[in-house]
Amino acid sequence: MFEVLLNEDEKKLRDEVRGFVRNKIDPALIIAMDSKEKEYPYEFIKAAAEANLLGLRFPEKYGGRDLGWVSEMLAVEEVGVLGISLGCAYSLPSIIGEGIEKFGTEKQKKEYLLPTLKGEKIGGEGLTEPRGGSDFFGTNTTAVKREDSFIINGEKRFVAGGVGADYFLIYARTEFKAAPHKALSAFLLDRDSGVKVEEEYELMGCRGMGAARIVFKDIEVPEASLLGELHGGNDVFNAMMVPERLTSAAGAIGLGQVAIELAARYADRREAFGRPIRRFEAVSFKVADCVTKLDAARGLVYRAAKVADTGAWCRKEVSQAKAFATDAGFDAVHEAMQILGGIGYTDVYPIERLYRDARLCTIWTGSNEVQRLIVQNEIFREILTADTTSRRNIELDTPGAHKTAEKVFTEELEKYYPKDD
Ligand SMILES: Cc1cc2nc3c(=O)[nH]c(=O)nc-3n(C[C@H](O)[C@H](O)[C@H](O)COP(=O)(O)OP(=O)(O)OC[C@H]3O[C@@H](n4cnc5c(N)ncnc54)[C@H](O)[C@@H]3O)c2cc1C
Repeated sequence: MFEVLLNEDEKKLRDEVRGFVRNKIDPALIIAMDSKEKEYPYEFIKAAAEANLLGLRFPEKYGGRDLGWVSEMLAVEEVGVLGISLGCAYSLPSIIGEGIEKFGTEKQKKEYLLPTLKGEKIGGEGLTEPRGGSDFFGTNTTAVKREDSFIINGEKRFVAGGVGADYFLIYARTEFKAAPHKALSAFLLDRDSGVKVEEEYELMGCRGMGAARIVFKDIEVPEASLLGELHGGNDVFNAMMVPERLTSAAGAIGLGQVAIELAARYADRREAFGRPIRRFEAVSFKVADCVTKLDAARGLVYRAAKVADTGAWCRKEVSQAKAFATDAGFDAVHEAMQILGGIGYTDVYPIERLYRDARLCTIWTGSNEVQRLIVQNEIFREILTADTTSRRNIELDTPGAHKTAEKVFTEELEKYYPKDD
């Protein structure tokens, strides 16, 4: 039970979102999105906005509820039960909102953040380009200054809301000689400024969120479209990666949890060799391991959220949570399908859809390889710059010194735990 880590307000919020997910969302919407009858879930966004559930951590004056990151992650986990498409639609206001709230002018906040959190405007986020998403700083899209405007050329692919969004937060190269992290700027681009949809993708899962390749050809935007400082895209990117990766992690936990719970109930009903299959440890241990990993993933997500609540640098914690939780979510759905056997592979149960959804989670919002790259960078930096004088075990780095260190340790231990004669 994760209850023990939550305060009363957080539990109340979690229950409120659970009620919204259960009572206000018509399963027919999910089916319609999955069967490609729908390109964007406007009615879901409208319902979430009416329930005042979008962008929970933003100030009330911009349509939020002034809550913290932990509360928001609880909400995303609950919405994750509906699958990743709705989880993504729910998270986008938080991801894009982070960039606008932290770096936008008051005018940008009124024009974009407020209507986004009220469900009146849909925003999309354009980072990935055909040349690659992992190497974000290699962005080829350009924004060239011309008097008091910018001319934008380039393209972004896999943009959720590429079909469906009213505006896009995009990154473009504005400096051509500087180091990569000083060369990009963020912009807010209205669809009707000339954004063209070049291709809407057929997806394995996560359908119905308008994932498309969008193209900018000589789009002229006013200077006021710049978000944050000129060449300051790196700061906006770093800020947005916190909600982007944490929502990805929390959504995958919700999805994995619902799949493994479904499988556990099935294992209790389904009989083979004269007993419920849950009586076979090969089955019940799968449930035990998956739930353990999902609980551990929650621990990482809520720790990262708590660090984010303090405003401290949390890149390591966020990437650890993203990689671990999305792996755990996928494992849970994978094992759930195994427990259901053949029927799990059909659409009689939603496991096959959740499986298709979960597969994306380890790829997007920065692949899990990229998250591990970040984690190892941060961990090595921490270890190699640590104040070694405060660490007695650093002596172990000196060949032979461990003998003394171990002796001191043994003596200290004996003080507290004297040996019996
Ligand atoms: C359905 C869908 C929706 C998406 N929505 C959005 C969106 O709304 N906005 C947006 O901007 N993007 C979006 N993306 C893009 C997504 O974030 C990228 O696909 C992801 O970041 C990986 O980039 P890539 O596909 O270009 O793979 P690449 O960058 O080409 O990477 C290919 C492989 O190489 C590995 N790799 C690359 N570099 C390294 C390295 N240094 N070390 C180890 N391994 C490495 C990667 O982990 C991956 O396995 C979406 C993608 C999909 C499929």
